Amino acid sequence: MPELPEVETIARELRPLVVGRTITSAWLDWPRQVKHPSPEAFAEQIFNRQILAVDRRAKWIVVSLGGRGVDAISDEAVLAIQVKMTGQLDVVAPDAPRDKHVHVVFGLDDDTELRLRDTRKFGRVGLYGRDEAGTILGAAEGEALFAAFGPEPLDSEFTLADFRRRLRARRARLKTLLMDQAFLAGVGNIYADEALWRARLHPLRSAATLRPGQERELYHALRAVLAEAIDRRGSSVDDYRAPEGRGDMQRFLNVYGRTGKPCPRCGRPTRRMVIGARSAHFCSWCQRLPGRERTAQAQTLLASVR
Ligand SMILES: [Zn+2]
Repeated sequence: MPELPEVETIARELRPLVVGRTITSAWLDWPRQVKHPSPEAFAEQIFNRQILAVDRRAKWIVVSLGGRGVDAISDEAVLAIQVKMTGQLDVVAPDAPRDKHVHVVFGLDDDTELRLRDTRKFGRVGLYGRDEAGTILGAAEGEALFAAFGPEPLDSEFTLADFRRRLRARRARLKTLLMDQAFLAGVGNIYADEALWRARLHPLRSAATLRPGQERELYHALRAVLAEAIDRRGSSVDDYRAPEGRGDMQRFLNVYGRTGKPCPRCGRPTRRMVIGARSAHFCSWCQRLPGRERTAQAQTLLASVR
């Protein structure tokens, strides 16, 4: 499933193709993909708006749209797109081949189309407003769309001190915590596993037991792996594809999806365990669990030994 680097890549590659264009039509054949407002209102309200910017927040693509009519400034809106597991965005000519998996199409005024192709139809689009301060408003009255999300790990304002403060307020296992969108935005299975491997921390380790040096290692490991993955245009481990094609990061992953293959650091086989219905890949030699935590996590560890 696309995470921060994959969604960031999609946003970056979409930007030069659509910014400045005006949406001239909207077509959809799977109304459940519209998260907000109703499919009819969505199609009517998105029409005739200019695309001002393409950004990312968490795992969402945020397309800023200009207002319409005399009150254009206060009418500005945001098209939010979640590609989820299998969504792919393309900008193509209207006569480009189109299969049955294309479920949302926006016509643009330069005679191209922005298409959402989604084999499993988990992807979502929504149209939202902004308040006077520019905050994107959610579906619920007076609530910001991203109110429940934690900070962006690559933000220059997100410091080691911030990370420490957030870690020390929590007791969850590291793997679960890193994937919690309220803790940090945008990290999922792949980059949680990779960051923990780089920082030599066991996925079952409790956030509350880290030493200051380990907190620092994890902070830098997380930012480094996310930045490298953006440079490599994301990991195409399943259906992920950006407008300019598949990513490259899957060839540089050290543990994710490598069960049984040698750890690049010590050569011992990579292990896989299930934590809260999600798999974790790790090296049990490089990523040791301290003795007292091993006892506490014995049941989960036993279940993972295969
Ligand atoms: Zn190892």
